[in-house]
Amino acid sequence: MQRDMYSFMCPNCASTILNMLDYESLMVLRPDLGLFTIACPACSAKTSMLRPIPPTLRDDVHAAAAEVHAGMGRKLDA
Ligand SMILES: [Zn+2]
Repeated sequence: MQRDMYSFMCPNCASTILNMLDYESLMVLRPDLGLFTIACPACSAKTSMLRPIPPTLRDDVHAAAAEVHAGMGRKLDA
């Protein structure tokens, strides 16, 4: 499944598989790159990772970025 591509072991407790698609917050740096923060349900540690934004999330990211008028690398009219 596609979700498996975005799974990783919790670096804090190493006993739980976390998934990027379950991110708690996502800071979009570029349309294709984001800083994901995932909270571990087992140890509650928060892990932040810079990762390519999965194609399945890109529509959401673009919509969210448009709502907050994020730059997304585009030039704004000055
Ligand atoms: Zn953990």
